[in-house]
Amino acid sequence: MRSILPGAMLGLLGGGQLGRMFAMAAHQMGYQVTVLDSDPDSPAGRIADQFICAEYTDRAALQRLGKQCAAITTEFENIPAAALAQLSEFCIVSPDAKSVSIAQNRISEKQFLQANNFSIASFAIIEQAGQFRNFTNSIAGLFPGILKVSQFGYDGKGQKHVNNEAELSTAFVEMKSVPCVLEKKVPLKCEVSVVLTRGGDGKMVCFPVVENQHMNGVLDISIVPARVSAETAKQALEIAGNVADTLNYRGVLCVEFFLLEDGQLVINEIAPRPHNSGHFSIDACITSQFEQQVRALCELPLGNTALHKPSVMVNLLGDLWQNGEPDWLLVLQQPSTKLHLYGKRAARPGRKMGHFTVLGETADQALTKALHIKRVIESN
Ligand code: ADP
Ligand code: MG
Repeated sequence: MRSILPGAMLGLLGGGQLGRMFAMAAHQMGYQVTVLDSDPDSPAGRIADQFICAEYTDRAALQRLGKQCAAITTEFENIPAAALAQLSEFCIVSPDAKSVSIAQNRISEKQFLQANNFSIASFAIIEQAGQFRNFTNSIAGLFPGILKVSQFGYDGKGQKHVNNEAELSTAFVEMKSVPCVLEKKVPLKCEVSVVLTRGGDGKMVCFPVVENQHMNGVLDISIVPARVSAETAKQALEIAGNVADTLNYRGVLCVEFFLLEDGQLVINEIAPRPHNSGHFSIDACITSQFEQQVRALCELPLGNTALHKPSVMVNLLGDLWQNGEPDWLLVLQQPSTKLHLYGKRAARPGRKMGHFTVLGETADQALTKALHIKRVIESN
């Protein structure tokens, strides 16, 4: 494999904030970026060197992208596998169509994890009302559970908590009877994630384990390093590495875990791209997850991911805009805090508009500072 060197044109499927931060990392290293997205005013599209406004099913547009790029990546897991396959006729595409198609569908994701003996929460596949696949025990064993649509769910959307079969039937109809999984609710001590990068040569570099707190199904706060035992952290890194190896993955991958009250780690889901819980790395690590994405894509040596300092990332959701633009000076006057805004025009409740990262001497100290800033901007 020959490295793709700075100056080359890199292609990006998807124009959201993850793509914007990828483009920023690519630009910093001297690459050019072409973004393909159907939104003419997307966060990444606006800062790209070239922009192709098209759907992921537009074969002529994909051909244009493929012809002008040295390598192509994605920031969005719901890219049709056919689009990635078509692009791979022109140049390197990473992650590949197979990994993306497994991760983009909860049914294939769970079947992949189960088939490879990774520990996951008990679940059943529901494709038709009253019919459960992949589950031999009584469905009653999955209550209380969460019904999740198999595709296109994100940030807790496309999920319903159900306590019995009657509620399950109603919820399934409310989901328009699309294929779903019913997952048993597990007793959480906390949630952690591992973001890692695997190069085309199989070499892998992980970021430190992250502890994640969610609010209404949306990531709220990420704390690094996670406040878990050294043994748990080691296990999480090992399991995530095994997932990447099993997929023969190339690029940045996130594995989200539930840490159960009894200390067991089970995989919640995997994301074939940089992840919200890895945003701390921009300010807190020698190499960010977005630079690693560029490095893996371009066959460059992977960077060192050591932490400069413990850190806490806080998401800024559209809810904060209820009374107009928040007063950013409240964040910026804290000298060890870094503000990131994604340039989205409309601030809808629950929409990820930006984040800030606080560095501290310890994770707990960074958390205290972060929660203080969060309270101040929320009450302003
Ligand atoms: P999304 O794709 O929206 O991130 P997840 O499946 O990760 O969906 O669910 C979002 C959050 O909901 C999780 O991070 C966790 O806090 C909670 N959750 C999801 N499934 C379960 C479960 N089986 N048991 C307990 N909590 C869960
Ligand atoms: Mg999740």
